Amino acid sequence: VLKGVGGGKSLILNGHSDVVSPNGQKWIHGPWSAKIENGKMYGRGVCDMKAGLTSIIMALECIQEAGLEPLGDVIIESVVGEETGGNGTLACIMKGYKADAGIVAEPTNMEIHVAQAGALWFKVTCWGKAAHGAFRQEGVSALEKAIKIHDALLGLEARRLKMVHHKLFEEKYEILPIAINIGILHAGKWFTAVPDEAVFEGRIGLLPGENYKEIEDVFEGVIKEVAVKDDWMKKHPPKVEWLGKWEPAEISIKHPIVDVLSSAYYELAYRKATISGTPGGTDMRLLTIYGETPSLLFGPGSISQCHTVDEFVDVEDLIAATKVIAYAITKWCGVKQF
Ligand SMILES: [Zn+2]
Repeated sequence: VLKGVGGGKSLILNGHSDVVSPNGQKWIHGPWSAKIENGKMYGRGVCDMKAGLTSIIMALECIQEAGLEPLGDVIIESVVGEETGGNGTLACIMKGYKADAGIVAEPTNMEIHVAQAGALWFKVTCWGKAAHGAFRQEGVSALEKAIKIHDALLGLEARRLKMVHHKLFEEKYEILPIAINIGILHAGKWFTAVPDEAVFEGRIGLLPGENYKEIEDVFEGVIKEVAVKDDWMKKHPPKVEWLGKWEPAEISIKHPIVDVLSSAYYELAYRKATISGTPGGTDMRLLTIYGETPSLLFGPGSISQCHTVDEFVDVEDLIAATKVIAYAITKWCGVKQF
């Protein structure tokens, strides 16, 4: 925490230091090399989001080196656990850190994201009755029941795509990021036996303005509807479990921090900043929903680089983002020359 000299607004600058696994695939430069070639730095986490974390720390250092003191408090949060749900930022919130606004320096390609979509992770278990494969008619295939539910869920997705609207996402995406995707399916244990259990796991997306509890109810309702129309499932209803929750979040595009950042960007980059929403879950939602700190996302690097092999960030982007954030700190918090 850099205590302000008084009279200015406070600001949280947040970035995560944890990274995802480099995976087993071959990297041109090692995942831990941080090698710079043709203006790009390569390595796991350089884009997501060591570059952003560097830019917020360097932005504050530049201000201090320039002989300026912020009037409001500037809090830098270098957090862990973002990739697995956000425990680091939650710990900061529980310790009582809050501010008048927050900037999370995730890679946004220098766009300003004032909204993020959310996702709920589900696990559904269907039961059947085992039998020899030669007499499969004597058994009940849990896999067939799971496929029935899968089809109904795709129907729900299609209905939601027609029903759900959000200006910031519709301007950017042809298909809203609210997909229902089943990523894991396990059924049966033997070639010649009718599977008596099928378990699948997936995610359903939701947009700011939607309540996650209501989405859970709608989802469970669709499965119940399928089950009551099926003699077997009526007696052996599938079980739904909720494994994870990434709530959607947004701040108003009229919030003054949006204006401060976009005008800082305009004055330094001579271009209008793009203001939009992002499909990915970030700690911005925790600061905004639970941390009493309305926050946006802005940082160097592209989201398309996140979690990839040969992840890189443009060093020029990193420098540009640092300048914009430094300038935004002076505008938001106010500064005194010493
Ligand atoms: Zn990230």
